[in-house]
Amino acid sequence: MVTEVTRRISILGATGSIGLSTLDVIRRHPDRFSVYALTASTRVEELAMLCREFKPRVAVMADPGAAQTLAGLLSDLPDIQVLSGMEGLCLVASAPEIDTVMAAIVGAAGLLPTLAAVRASKRVLLANKEALVMSGKLFMDAVAEAGAELLPIDSEHNAIFQCMPVDKIRDPAGAGITRILLTASGGPFREHSAEALRSVTPSQACAHPNWSMGQKISVDSATLMNKGLELIEACWLFNTTPERVEVHVHPESIIHSMVEYADGSVLAQLGSPDMRTPIANGLAWPERIDAGVAPVDLFAIGRFHFERPDLVRFPCLRLAAEAFEAGGTAPAVLNAANEVAVAAFLEGNLCFADIPVIIERTLGATAVEPADSFEVIFAKDTEARARAREQIGLLTV
Ligand code: NDP
Repeated sequence: MVTEVTRRISILGATGSIGLSTLDVIRRHPDRFSVYALTASTRVEELAMLCREFKPRVAVMADPGAAQTLAGLLSDLPDIQVLSGMEGLCLVASAPEIDTVMAAIVGAAGLLPTLAAVRASKRVLLANKEALVMSGKLFMDAVAEAGAELLPIDSEHNAIFQCMPVDKIRDPAGAGITRILLTASGGPFREHSAEALRSVTPSQACAHPNWSMGQKISVDSATLMNKGLELIEACWLFNTTPERVEVHVHPESIIHSMVEYADGSVLAQLGSPDMRTPIANGLAWPERIDAGVAPVDLFAIGRFHFERPDLVRFPCLRLAAEAFEAGGTAPAVLNAANEVAVAAFLEGNLCFADIPVIIERTLGATAVEPADSFEVIFAKDTEARARAREQIGLLTV
């Protein structure tokens, strides 16, 4: 029987950890999904290989020089158009030929292309949490205005989504939901003392005990900033407040989050720690498809553990909650300062324990303004990055 392709997709950030997992799910279902565009930033050889396998109509390199190299590498495949820069990214995110976009660029660089997909009313599979953290209400308003279909890919938010009635995603109280229990692995340094955190290295920070991820989110997991970004993400996606979201450190990373109801029921979504599950859920929703994920063996796991996060050793979670409470441009400043601090740590120019110090000082040095346009958000992002660099300079002299 010949089945029709049901989804035509652009994958933003195809060479990354989420991009590759998405392509792995797509590879298993050539009858369901076709790839329209693949994008990357600088990893040109990796993108060229993916283009050879998936034969997209368009390939985009954010970096113009890399785009030229890619065009050379693909000169024997004239049917693949090579574009570059933000313009190219936004074009493939909003192309009329597609219905679905995987938003998997890391960091603030993903905001404009993700927004382009939203404004073009696509099904947007949101991995790029930084876009939503930066622009919160403006982003959700754009989703509502365009009638875009926003599906969470972050494993925790996808779990919450799966545990909620479909028609009450934006009205949890109306569904009798009392709390969201957001789980966290605790990262590789869960048991480190404050003193030991001063000497951890980038490679230790990137060696997550349960998940294989890109470098930036791995460091975010280690500082618990990832959970802070996710707290903000949950508040926007599910139209709730931080008081109704409680972080539970669950080192086994099998329960991906839970939803508590007024009658005392708690619904949880469980699975192996493999991003192909939430990705397949988003790609095929509301259907279920094989994601290539190993079944969970609860006998082998044996026990689940839960503990409260330690906000003294891991202040980033507190900083994120405070930035959300402050509102306006504060979450954009938090995100920008975090991106700068994490990059400095990865380059060996900042101690791990000083990441929250830089973020807190940057937040203190940057006035909060109403976030009433994307222009304001981007201006604050630029200002906060400059201030964070200044703070790093002051710390390291
Ligand atoms: P990676 O670092 O592995 O991949 C990032 C991707 O974005 C790459 O394709 C990269 O291209 C591209 N990219 C980087 N910078 C730019 C830029 N300036 N312009 C355009 N493209 C760019 O990240 P992950 O896949 O780990 O994460 C992607 C997003 O998904 C993040 O927001 C993360 O928080 C979120 N996420 C990730 C999870 C995971 O398990 N990895 C889980 C949940 C959420 P190139 O390869 O050329 O550098």
